[in-house]
Amino acid sequence: MAALLQTRAVEYSVGQAQILRGIDLTVRPGEILAVAGPNGAGKSTLLAVLAGDLRPTCGQVTLDGQPLHGIGVKELARKRAVMLQEAHVSFPFSVVDVVRMGRAPWGGRDPDADDAAVAGALGATDTLGLAGRIFQTLSGGEKARVGFARMLAQEADVLLLDEPTAALDIRHQELVMSLARQQADRGRAVLTVLHDLSLAAAWADRLALIGAGRLVGIGPVVEVATPERLSELYQHPIRVGLDPATGLPTVAPRRGIAVCVA
Ligand code: ADP
Ligand code: MG
Repeated sequence: MAALLQTRAVEYSVGQAQILRGIDLTVRPGEILAVAGPNGAGKSTLLAVLAGDLRPTCGQVTLDGQPLHGIGVKELARKRAVMLQEAHVSFPFSVVDVVRMGRAPWGGRDPDADDAAVAGALGATDTLGLAGRIFQTLSGGEKARVGFARMLAQEADVLLLDEPTAALDIRHQELVMSLARQQADRGRAVLTVLHDLSLAAAWADRLALIGAGRLVGIGPVVEVATPERLSELYQHPIRVGLDPATGLPTVAPRRGIAVCVA
């Protein structure tokens, strides 16, 4: 299957700080690729590079074989949708207006399609009841679901999500991951930063681990998420068990020991 989004030897630096080093990865149609790693490892920077919001200092990013930076802003917005870690909405827009912003790349050519996409995204994310609320007054988890809805309404083929479940309760974590799965099953490519590795094991096809700006492992979650590799990466002993109900890996820290601060 063709790679939709691909990086080759991507590096990203700011001044003296090298934030990403030698990143080679592909995000394929039909898959969820989870990205995990410690705070400050470079996950959000990688997402911004993949989105075309940051230009790599070295290396190349291609979308459907085309260099990302050769693609016009409008075309790019039709091809890839991004859900950032924190949604910034500076004006008192209503929830439905925020979700409708996801339709902007389509230029209002088909108002019925726009309305259907917005209604579908609100319904799917359990945010219909919030549609008339002012976005800024929502709770963190509500904002995250609305941000996810806006990303869905954009109907792009590549979805880039930065910790979409971090602020969500368990039911809504499952909801959002099942919606991401549905998007992948429809042939879209999903890359999502996740801190919860049990969630990644349950929903993602592959896991990419990032440590200090480098890709330290990529592959099926069961192969990549070993206790040795995770304990080394997070600098804390980590256990990997098996959920007897599903046979899927569960990841948990060892407790009762001091958390080391270097
Ligand atoms: P993650 O999402 O994995 O927690 P980020 O990609 O946000 O990490 O950041 C990676 C590292 O790069 C962090 O140490 C962060 O402080 C640093 N960083 C990110 N952007 C800049 C910038 N514009 N200038 C200086 N340092 C930055
Ligand atoms: Mg981040």
